[in-house]
Amino acid sequence: MRKKIIFLICTLISVFFFLSYRQVSSEENSNQLSNDKILSLMKEHEKDRLVQNKQITDKFVNLVFQEQKGTYISYFINCQNGEIINFDNLLINQKEFYKKINKLLQLKYPEFIAKELTQENCLKAFEIQENNLVIHYFDSKITPPIQEELNLKVNFNEIKDFLSFPVSINNNYENENGYSLDPNKKTVAFTFDDGPNPKTTEKILNLLEQNKMHATFFMVGNRMENFPELVNKTLEKGNEIGSHSYSHTNMVRLTKEELEKEENQTKTIYKNITGKELFLLRPPYGNINTTMKKNLDYAFVNWNIDTEDWRYRNANHIYQEVIDNLKDGDIILMHDLYDSTIQAVEKLLPELYAKGIQVTTVSELASLKNQVLEKHQTYNSIKN
Ligand code: ZN
Repeated sequence: MRKKIIFLICTLISVFFFLSYRQVSSEENSNQLSNDKILSLMKEHEKDRLVQNKQITDKFVNLVFQEQKGTYISYFINCQNGEIINFDNLLINQKEFYKKINKLLQLKYPEFIAKELTQENCLKAFEIQENNLVIHYFDSKITPPIQEELNLKVNFNEIKDFLSFPVSINNNYENENGYSLDPNKKTVAFTFDDGPNPKTTEKILNLLEQNKMHATFFMVGNRMENFPELVNKTLEKGNEIGSHSYSHTNMVRLTKEELEKEENQTKTIYKNITGKELFLLRPPYGNINTTMKKNLDYAFVNWNIDTEDWRYRNANHIYQEVIDNLKDGDIILMHDLYDSTIQAVEKLLPELYAKGIQVTTVSELASLKNQVLEKHQTYNSIKN
């Protein structure tokens, strides 16, 4: 009886070891298959930069390379059989996933880029990081061609419901959910005088919005009075408004009392429309004297690049004037009056974005350059 029990125990132990060995050996086989695949991809990409080689759960490995021409390429390798998995097959709800991604792309990039990146056939590579998915894009159809790398960093919080694999969730996250100014990039301020204008202001506002850029509008008081909705719209879209006098008068000809009357009027109109205070003044014709500087409670903003759009009324001339002369910290003068100016802006904004130049308001330019605009001072450009 005792012998029988010992025999039984021994048999059970042997069976147990035999089964465990088989399991280990099958795991080794499958690991071997995926390792072989990884090695062969490494060989294939030996001249490229290895960006990522990471095991994601026990199911698959994510490999990402940056090819010599700059583009990214990603692979997902099944740990069981060494086969390549299409990223879309790791999604639970492909349609909702790309809907979310496209929304984030539209928030981050200007329209001329986002419209290409949201195309289904746009080349993409997927990199699974600690708390994010990074999607690298490549599209040669974007015009004008972009110098910077195009990518979207999406926190798993945003897309966890669409993924078929478990991810770590970090609740303290900043998603790339919009465009923000980069202090390391060249930045200039666009300024538009003489509006608001029902024929042109809204078109300029739309162009700025489409390109994720902003500008300062120096508005004339009596025109603000006539078109208050354009004043509010300008601010709502993230732009800035300064005074351009009440009646486009040559302010150097006015007495202290006349100056104060003129500007108090403009300030009151602006406050009644927006509830805000005016801080910047661009006097008509850029004419400033000491009486004005001393008595008007403003920071004075002129320009260092004059497109002379009022004289030429030619989009190409305006475009060329800006492209040829533009430097970091410049303030560019244009007018919110002419179709030719709008056509030039339409061409300039994507072109400048593509060159890595940011276009923004005078105040934002100053804050990027760590400068505080002061009252009774004049600014023609804002350099570091
Ligand atoms: Zn003017």
